[in-house]
Amino acid sequence: MKDVKFDVIIAAAGKSERMGVNKMALTISHQTTLERTVEAFIGIENIDKIIIAVSDENINVAKDIASRNKNENIVVTKGGKSREETVYLALKEVTSEYVLIHDGARPFVSKKLIKDVMECASIDGSSIPVLRPDDSMRRVDGDKITRTVNRDKYCLVQTPQGFLTESIKMAFNSILNDKKSFADYTDESEIYLEYIREPSVVLGDKRNIKLTDPTDIAGLNTKVGSGYDIHALVTGRSLVICGVQVDYHLGSLAHSDGDVAIHALIDAVLSAAGELDIGSHFPDSDPKYAGIDSTIMLTEALEKLKEKNLKVTHASIVVLLEKPKLADYIPIMRVKLGNVLKIPSSDVTISAKTGEGLGEIGEGKAIAAYAMVIAN
Ligand code: MG
Repeated sequence: MKDVKFDVIIAAAGKSERMGVNKMALTISHQTTLERTVEAFIGIENIDKIIIAVSDENINVAKDIASRNKNENIVVTKGGKSREETVYLALKEVTSEYVLIHDGARPFVSKKLIKDVMECASIDGSSIPVLRPDDSMRRVDGDKITRTVNRDKYCLVQTPQGFLTESIKMAFNSILNDKKSFADYTDESEIYLEYIREPSVVLGDKRNIKLTDPTDIAGLNTKVGSGYDIHALVTGRSLVICGVQVDYHLGSLAHSDGDVAIHALIDAVLSAAGELDIGSHFPDSDPKYAGIDSTIMLTEALEKLKEKNLKVTHASIVVLLEKPKLADYIPIMRVKLGNVLKIPSSDVTISAKTGEGLGEIGEGKAIAAYAMVIAN
């Protein structure tokens, strides 16, 4: 790219009406939406200044970001009544030859897309990232499809949109000169098209979604946890697996009921909760855990997740055992664990593997289990 400078406007003064909560301050993997959006632009060569345009309620969120990134040239400004009034006001702060204008609610924008937009804008004077629709398109009037349209002629428009600063400022001033309302426009490409010329396009990115309604953020704070356990098989003990008594002449040696699968599951739950392992929460030196039903410990571990506002949504367990066959027990084990985890048994999967005669498992001297959970 030729040696040109860009300023960036992050338009973040919207009311989040469809989301129902302040989406700029929403936490996505330990960062606010706005911080993640701003950080996408930090460290890109040729970017000079980042202007965050926010509503009054998010002034402090934006100022925090600026103070955490002291080495960056970040300016916080107050937004307007509409998206385009916000951009109009922020444009007054722009001093570089080119400007990128980006939605504060698109935190997943990639550095590659930003660079692609900059490259194209520096050559053509404008650059709009667009996605071609994957689905067929029809015109709808009322509740009827009235026409077939050729989807190759249509695209979905994303941000950041890049422009020669002088041109986009001129376009915004023309709206005022024509006594039109900023509220009549939904993005800058529309204004540029009306007053300057047809803007150029680059290929957008499907991951660059605009957080709009609650379904857009479902799953963004997903945690994963994994666990493992092994016990010796001995005479004189009962064999309890996934909370179910299994008929066998050997049982697992342990301080508790020796339910190896639930112990692995407890470690998976604790790991998803960011906690230390089972041994530190339920020490086997503590007499109160002697012979304890492991589902009680599992319930306590689930409380640790609950404290983090998380819930197990899927659990997967692999039991390693030479004998006996568990196939007949697995359906009831899934129901049992589903009840403890408070999820449908269809979201608890259990598979049993033998050791193929190899090692302690294969020789029937031990039973082991792996567990994984997804928590949301
Ligand atoms: Mg154990």
